[in-house]
Amino acid sequence: MQFIDLKAQQAAIRSEIDRRIAAVLDHGQYILGPEVIELEQILAEYVGVKHCISVASGTEALLIALMALGIGPGDEVITSTFTFVATAEVIALAGATPVFVDVLPETANIDPRAVEAKITPRTRAIIPVSLYGQVADMEEIEQIASRHGISVIEDAAQSFGAVYKGRKSCGLSTIGCTSFFPSKPLGCYGDGGALFTSDDAIAQAAKEIRVHGQAQRYVHTRIGVGGRMDTIQCAILLAKWPRFAWEVEQRMRIGQRYTDEILRRISGSATITADMDLQSLNAPVAVFGAKEDRTSVYAQYTVLVADRDAVQAHFQSSGIPTAVHYPVPLDQQPAYKQWAAPDGTPVADALAARVMSLPMGPDLSEEDQDRVIACLCAAVA
Ligand SMILES: *Cc1c(COP(=O)(O)O)cnc(C)c1O
Repeated sequence: MQFIDLKAQQAAIRSEIDRRIAAVLDHGQYILGPEVIELEQILAEYVGVKHCISVASGTEALLIALMALGIGPGDEVITSTFTFVATAEVIALAGATPVFVDVLPETANIDPRAVEAKITPRTRAIIPVSLYGQVADMEEIEQIASRHGISVIEDAAQSFGAVYKGRKSCGLSTIGCTSFFPSKPLGCYGDGGALFTSDDAIAQAAKEIRVHGQAQRYVHTRIGVGGRMDTIQCAILLAKWPRFAWEVEQRMRIGQRYTDEILRRISGSATITADMDLQSLNAPVAVFGAKEDRTSVYAQYTVLVADRDAVQAHFQSSGIPTAVHYPVPLDQQPAYKQWAAPDGTPVADALAARVMSLPMGPDLSEEDQDRVIACLCAAVA
């Protein structure tokens, strides 16, 4: 069994992938070719914003977002400590100061009250992360941001396709950033990413920054990067696009089935609630519940287990891959502990010690999913 099965997806659409790649080889516009524009139009319309700017990766999208907002030395950017390193990396790369805050137990997403407490006159932006495919509390965060006149960049690398209060992830804030890394909900066959915004000036800035800050050929009006997404990668996503809505449905169905089966079959298992103290949690398995006003696309299906090493060893001996997203809160990583959260991040610490992700994807068969669930039952028995 694979942790994420990309082969079944490819087999289902292989002829369209071949046709789209062949079209790029025929026209030869490998950089900013027609597929780039076609993809950007489709994705902007899907998300419900005016502009989509495709870029070289999700990390590049976040960096270009900060650069387009003019964020740099002396500025503070508030983000979650419980995320993939790229979220904080770009803040440091832009020369700004990452300010790490704790997350909520029930979603593992940033705690809006903790955000508010960290706002200073130097705060320029908040980067909430829609972790595991479920959108963060964007409305609360937007309200805090607008009260203080600062921008919000959603790190939607794991949540493309998720819905929040009837609107799509990536279209909920000043800028939304996503990743098309192969294993993400919408993945190409290499690196790719995109920014989404309805702000014309930000979109223009992002377009220029992605090509070396170039306003016209050899006229560089700002500092930029080499951050374009390849035409061939856009062509891959265009081939995958007609299947994406079905894949989102499958992800939601398979994720919900994991939750239902775990709660039904493992006695003492529980759904994590807002008032739960994760440090003293004694459920053998705890699951994240989906909030009523939003969906999850389950980029990962992640649970909490008490003795992770033992459970992972059991899975390994059964030939079923697992992963840990993420084992160490970022403010405790060697390169980032200079910005450690002064009051600690107890929820993130408890999550980091217990989270474990199970095989997940739109093509996970019921048979394979049953094997995973049976293995989990046996591992915690
Ligand atoms: C994957 C990911 C990124 C980075 O995306 P890349 O395309 O790999 O650069 C950023 N943030 C989060 C939360 C991610 O999961």
